[in-house]
Amino acid sequence: MTRPSGRSTVVLLRGSGDDDFAFLGPTLARNRCVVNVDLSVTSKRSSDEWTRELAEAGDDCCVIAVGAHADEAVRATLDARGVVTRLVLIEPEFDGAASETGALPVLVLASGERGLGDVRGTLRERPARILSVIEDFLDDAKPPSRRSSRPPAAVSRPPVGDVDLQARPLRDHSTSAVEVDTVIVGAGFAGLGAGIRLARRGDKSFVILERAGDVGGTWRDNTYPGVACDIPSHLYSFSFLPKPDWSNFFASGREIHDYLRDAVRSEGLEGHLRLRSEVLEMRWLADELRWRVTTSSGEYLCRTLIVAAGRLSDARMPDVPGLDSFAGPVMHSSTWDDSVELRGRRVGVVGTGASAAQLIPRLADVAAGVVVFQRSAPYVVPRPDREYTLDEQRRFTDDPSAHEALRDELFWGAETAFAERMRVPGFIDRLRDRALGHLEAQLDEPSLRAAATPDYEIGCKRVIISNDYYPALASPSVTLEPSALRSISDRVATSAGGASFELDVLVFATGFESTRPPFAARTYGADGIRLSDAWADGMRAHASTTVHGFPNMFVLDGPNASLGHNSAVVMIEAQIDYVLAALDHRDAVSVDALDVSLEAQDAYTHEIDAKAASTVWLTGGCDSWYVDERSRRLTLLWPDFAYAFQRRLSRFDAENYAVIEAPRMAPALQSSIPSP
Ligand code: NAP
Repeated sequence: MTRPSGRSTVVLLRGSGDDDFAFLGPTLARNRCVVNVDLSVTSKRSSDEWTRELAEAGDDCCVIAVGAHADEAVRATLDARGVVTRLVLIEPEFDGAASETGALPVLVLASGERGLGDVRGTLRERPARILSVIEDFLDDAKPPSRRSSRPPAAVSRPPVGDVDLQARPLRDHSTSAVEVDTVIVGAGFAGLGAGIRLARRGDKSFVILERAGDVGGTWRDNTYPGVACDIPSHLYSFSFLPKPDWSNFFASGREIHDYLRDAVRSEGLEGHLRLRSEVLEMRWLADELRWRVTTSSGEYLCRTLIVAAGRLSDARMPDVPGLDSFAGPVMHSSTWDDSVELRGRRVGVVGTGASAAQLIPRLADVAAGVVVFQRSAPYVVPRPDREYTLDEQRRFTDDPSAHEALRDELFWGAETAFAERMRVPGFIDRLRDRALGHLEAQLDEPSLRAAATPDYEIGCKRVIISNDYYPALASPSVTLEPSALRSISDRVATSAGGASFELDVLVFATGFESTRPPFAARTYGADGIRLSDAWADGMRAHASTTVHGFPNMFVLDGPNASLGHNSAVVMIEAQIDYVLAALDHRDAVSVDALDVSLEAQDAYTHEIDAKAASTVWLTGGCDSWYVDERSRRLTLLWPDFAYAFQRRLSRFDAENYAVIEAPRMAPALQSSIPSP
């Protein structure tokens, strides 16, 4: 057996029926060589056999065993002294197993320890939790800072009441640029999260630029009927700003928007907000070692630029011939117009993604008819929504540890889904069965069922979570047209399949410009290079956050920082931690700017590509907005567990950054921002 250099070996001792390793084997194999030793073939190996078997695995290997196999694992380790350097025993069935192995580092995972609860149960239901503990042990790493980095509590402030979230003019922008330490672009989850963290550490010199008239990002923009989040509410909120009284397991768009508006008030961010300030250009001034940010309401100079412009912020509209001639209203799902009358109208919906699946059932309730133009069928799984009781809300309020435990459970539960995206046998099969079972249970009519059956592997596109999508398709008011919208002529919409429909209103639920973010065309780094040119082949970054040639710029929720299986907020928080650590480092070494090296960025990109290669996103036989159209690289999603991202970004890796010093001393920044 040969072992790729630089990768340690994990030997899994398994017997018949040890299904627990169905998860651990392939997931450990992302970063290590994994050797399965089947103990059911030879129940007791001789000392020689063990030495030979383990020596073949390599001279730096870890042995992992579950339950009764702990006995054999200890024996193997003792027999092959020097070969095995670490031992992991999961729920060993005899006491004192670890003590027999002398000075060898041993990790014993037993029920009730390390917050793992019932270990066997955790291995079945939340296996990523066990995996993360094993990986920390193997890498000698500190556990990811999911709790320890909890930032200081917010300074208590007087209630601000119903403050209108308006921009306050700072000074006459026509005469000079405003200087601040940090400009944050975007007032969605990421931008507000960064603002809160800066404010909590006492930074006053920052502004949050927002082109719209309110905060909230995607949750401000998307007000279509039925808009909600398909990530559990308690996980889709900041760990440092818990909301114990979410009304439902899944929150409505409105409730999330209110949460973000409340955050602005409770954290005193109003004074930092510059609403209706669209960023027109961001340019690195090499002589001044500053970013110049030109907006529709004035100009800013800053040392640090945090771009949190979002990936679901610019609507994607297909180029449909004749669309201009359509006689009725046309809306994108993210620019919903409540004044458009839908009752009794014939409505065409283009698209069958997460947005369409939420709004189609609502349209079906009021419209005279709904025609759904489906280019490809989505997979749909049941939506386990429910209201939280008052008792539960009180408990989460009164007992923060109960609330943390809930978040933990939700986080590790969601992590299991990455094994599905890795196509781990068993895991992806169960998910597919759940979706196809849901389809069969909800759609009786064979031709409709056939039209709604996806022709690619599950998970390749975002899996829809809905109980009312299929019933809506089956309702008499809805027609599923299984092809794209091809053309429009006056009120008649014709599909690629050749069917024509007379319509009064057209709704495009066709997604967003996520792989080519429009802000990149407005961003100029060192030597005037435009970010969209640097990304001509698709987005890339180091640590999913910094881009070579764009000093002191940090992109949140950008390249490979999204998730298809867990909460985006978790990722944003990990990135904010990384940014703050970078700023601390920059201050500590007293340099003006940090620019990530091209080598580090290339190495990170290589790592991403290698991890993505076998995931369902690249092998599942679909086209999705997770994949860049030009390079076919997975540029949107992080192709690993969310905990691995937290771990990866838990340390600022200064060694990968070049420092830039001013040729002459730049004048000290004087904050011109009034304290809130
Ligand atoms: P999306 O997932 O990109 O879906 C766009 C839909 O439009 C797809 O069905 C696509 O078909 C279709 N489409 C695009 N161009 C078309 C054309 N020319 N003709 C016919 N169909 C066309 O967009 P989305 O539904 O707005 O969702 C975007 C993302 O927002 C989601 O993935 C999710 O991350 C987020 N979101 C989340 C929630 C939530 O509950 N958390 C809710 C809504 C949105 P193909 O599939 O064939 O490309």
